[in-house]
Amino acid sequence: MSTAHTKAAKRFLKDTEKARWQDNTLWGVRTKRDNMAKSLDEWETLRQKASEIKMHTLTHLDEYLERFEASATANGVKVHWAKDAEEFNAIVLDILRSHDVRKLVKSKSMLTEECEMNPYLEKNGIEVAETDLGERIIQLLDQKPSHIVMPAIHLTQEEVGELFEEKLGSEKGNSDPTYLTCCARESLRNEFLTADAGLTGANFGIAQTGEIVICTNEGNADMSTSVPKLHIAAMGIEKVIPDYDSLAVFHRLLARSATGQPSTTFTSHFRKPRPGGEMHIILVDNGRSRLLSQEEHWQTLKCIRCGACMNTCPVYRRSGGYSYTYFIPGPIGINLGMAKDAERFHDNASACSLCCSCDNVCPAKVNLSEQIYTWRQSLKDIGKASAVKEVMSGGMKFIFDRPGLYDAALKCSPLINAATGTAEFASVYLWGKGRNMPQFAKESFHSMWKNGKVKYDK
Ligand code: SF4
Ligand code: SF4
Repeated sequence: MSTAHTKAAKRFLKDTEKARWQDNTLWGVRTKRDNMAKSLDEWETLRQKASEIKMHTLTHLDEYLERFEASATANGVKVHWAKDAEEFNAIVLDILRSHDVRKLVKSKSMLTEECEMNPYLEKNGIEVAETDLGERIIQLLDQKPSHIVMPAIHLTQEEVGELFEEKLGSEKGNSDPTYLTCCARESLRNEFLTADAGLTGANFGIAQTGEIVICTNEGNADMSTSVPKLHIAAMGIEKVIPDYDSLAVFHRLLARSATGQPSTTFTSHFRKPRPGGEMHIILVDNGRSRLLSQEEHWQTLKCIRCGACMNTCPVYRRSGGYSYTYFIPGPIGINLGMAKDAERFHDNASACSLCCSCDNVCPAKVNLSEQIYTWRQSLKDIGKASAVKEVMSGGMKFIFDRPGLYDAALKCSPLINAATGTAEFASVYLWGKGRNMPQFAKESFHSMWKNGKVKYDK
């Protein structure tokens, strides 16, 4: 049975060269992350600490958010609360309109993607210019990010070269990355200089001081906030952490996990408005409180959006970001999508082999595979379980419940070998595409055990 994910993955895999390139590129990032992790003896201690800080903060979220609001307000920042995407977009528009803003520059923020802010603002007459290079590229292409840290990872430099030729008037046939970066820089500089306001996300919000911390490699968050006098920051409520000591833990983990760098090139702290300017922070819930109340899924909120789970996931690497139906793909996206609307995004839950690699790389120790497994068990309740899997599971249960039948089936297994051979078994089940039919052993473990053929150390 085809799912939306398998159909999209099939389209992605048609371009074998590009599919292989993406797989290798992401594996390269995963390898860099591994090298960084190995270079720190305290790596596992840091992960454990990060998980504990998140658990502590999330279980005292009301206190930390109120402390954050009080500290930020004392710094002269205007703090707003948005219960959902609609409210968030309305608050942003209201602030922009009250300052007669026509053009907004923004640095990368997955929260604004989640709230579909750009189309909303554009519909209301505000021009929005993305300033992160990857985000700018996909904005010019009118696409969505295919990865949370490397949004344009699905594109080759030649494709970017062609895009810049058409949209920015760059030299024909020149796809040299340095040249293309210079072209983007030149075009963005003009956007920065002519913008009336800057909008950023927030990697962390520090309750103790009321400041937000933004990590970038391009310095575009600083540019977005140092030319225009109006700064709006969008922050999910789960981003609050207690203090600088906590920040030190996450700072050591984030870039190492994301891109295999010891630190992002820029780590910018924004605590108060610029002289003569205004700073607004919008704290957004949009389903996070509900998620926090779910015993089996609240850990998703520990995520610091490093993308490491995507880089390691064999399904993501080989099917591409656009094969998932939720706007965040990969292991964390499967879970966030299910938490958002399980009926709508249930399809993604099948995009997982339960290899657990995502759990092992996650710097905040989010139990991603365990949650996916739990979501799958809920599919029957919402009428979205695969009929083929239900029949197969029902058949296995029937056999396992009847030892006599089980023994007889084992004895017949050589006949199944003879009937199926080692052919690809995609006709039986889609996971079989590209895989050979596994063969039953000639003699069962039970029989070998009974006949003393199993050797073991006592
Ligand atoms: S457990 Fe699933 S989601 Fe996680 S890395 Fe493995 S295949 Fe991907
Ligand atoms: S779930 Fe973990 S590995 Fe995945 S993006 Fe979030 S913090 Fe990174």
